[in-house]
Amino acid sequence: MRGKYEISLLIIYTGGTIGMVQDPENGSLVPIDFRYISDHVPELRKFGYSLHSISFDPVKDSSNIDPQVWIKIAEIIEDNYERFDGFVVLHGTDTMAYTASALSYMFENLGKPVILTGSQLPIGLLRTDGKENLITAIEIAAAKEKGLPSVPEVCICFDNKLVRGNRTTKMSAEHFDAFYSPNYPPLAEVGLHIKYFSGVIRHPEPDKKFTVQKAFDNNVAILKIFPGINRKLVQAITRTEGLRGLIIETFGSGNAPTYQWFLDDLKNFIDNGGIILNVTQCHGGSVEMGLYETSRQMLAAGVVSGKDITSEASVTKLMHLLGRYQSNDKVVEALGRSLAGEIS
Ligand code: ASP
Repeated sequence: MRGKYEISLLIIYTGGTIGMVQDPENGSLVPIDFRYISDHVPELRKFGYSLHSISFDPVKDSSNIDPQVWIKIAEIIEDNYERFDGFVVLHGTDTMAYTASALSYMFENLGKPVILTGSQLPIGLLRTDGKENLITAIEIAAAKEKGLPSVPEVCICFDNKLVRGNRTTKMSAEHFDAFYSPNYPPLAEVGLHIKYFSGVIRHPEPDKKFTVQKAFDNNVAILKIFPGINRKLVQAITRTEGLRGLIIETFGSGNAPTYQWFLDDLKNFIDNGGIILNVTQCHGGSVEMGLYETSRQMLAAGVVSGKDITSEASVTKLMHLLGRYQSNDKVVEALGRSLAGEIS
């Protein structure tokens, strides 16, 4: 028996625009005191849920969020996992897709909703999108079907859409509709009703325990290929001391120049113990290595296909796997399969 409230949720405020109001004295944006969130969003009192909040102190602009912060968020959720039905993480939009991806790999057998949201306009401004996003995220975190959470996944809820976190990219610095999921359908649509698409929602394996993996290795790099790329740049990256994993963002379905020096540099990196993951720089679709000559030779050199993974999900996956395994074979094997629904 839980007393007055049936549903209990934890809101974790990390920082970002959503938690800002205008300072009445000088008009600049300052973070709100999250203990008084209901004063800013009185609608929250109408839910009848037991809402608790934890705020980072100091709050973080999401540009400053890194693996240490992902671990901190994950530990807050781990420590409170049994006490709450769901979690809402308020986060700056700029790196929200990275955090959502990282959390999705850290949480194994997640059986409760972890819903990230934020806003383009501060919650203290009249036209804010923050209230709507927060209220909807709370409703989704609380939603149950036959006594079980409707969406036991790490998701991003933004502008009337619920998308899998590790499938998401921030696409607009201007519009309220800021996120999109190029290669995977939304998990729910928010209109008059919230419509859950149960066929595309992941569920944990029954009887398996929720665990949290906390190791990351940030000895990784992303190299975006462009016409005219110069060898000194490629070598500066591939010869970086300690670099273990390199993502190459390639053209179209995974293509890159067939210059001999380029292939030699990639091969040298791999021969010296590095891992290269091929991810498309297109905003949708998949790498298909071997389809063209321009990717067949990379395949022969040992470059791994990133399939339809986003850039955000790939760099966090690589950091997670390199933190978890010393063996390159294990990392390469895990790169090729879905850990948390990040590839098809
Ligand atoms: N710079 C902010 C951040 O990502 C922007 C936002 O919250 O939307 O933290």
